[in-house]
Amino acid sequence: ESDQEEPTHVVKIVLIGDSSVGKTNLLTRFCENEFAPDSMPTIGVEFGSKIVEINEQRIKAQIWDTAGQERFRSVTQAYYRGSVGAFIVYDITNPLSFRRLGDWYQEFKSQAEDNSIIMIIGNKCDLENDRKILQEDAEKFAKEHDILFMETSAKDGTNVEETFSKLMNKIYNVT
Ligand code: GDP
Ligand code: MG
Repeated sequence: ESDQEEPTHVVKIVLIGDSSVGKTNLLTRFCENEFAPDSMPTIGVEFGSKIVEINEQRIKAQIWDTAGQERFRSVTQAYYRGSVGAFIVYDITNPLSFRRLGDWYQEFKSQAEDNSIIMIIGNKCDLENDRKILQEDAEKFAKEHDILFMETSAKDGTNVEETFSKLMNKIYNVT
């Protein structure tokens, strides 16, 4: 019965980070617990949503995906507007995607609400043999910027739920 209740709040969360780090596959995992290995990059904006329960409130998280805009450095202001949280994603096998975290961080900070919550995601942690970025280097970045961090695999599902609830709990100030 409670499944049919309307959510109390709707919050907007954005996914950002370089192309090919796995944002779209993370979105699919978050929202459907599925992995689509051949997701096609399209132009525009897409989003998925997921209902979470926090402090007995039903919250609808609307998660926006760049849908390919990031390849052309053309993520628009409208994309960020009104977001209360962001996942900035890199690929643990791709050093360039890690070096770009600072740019994405600055861009989000300059566009989003002042008190929005940011979480770094090191995706593709299933590819341990190809790892180029140590977990401790990402932890250092997160600590310096006072933001959250976790490694995930959209492929096998590792930490995807955990990442999501960590961000939502921080947004709602729950520990
Ligand atoms: P986006 O450009 O950031 O949206 O990245 P996509 O979600 O389209 O993924 C880019 C490529 O990485 C695709 O070929 C995916 O199959 C692959 N991929 C995404 N997540 C993972 C993961 O966690 N592990 C592995 N091994 N591959 C992944
Ligand atoms: Mg994508």
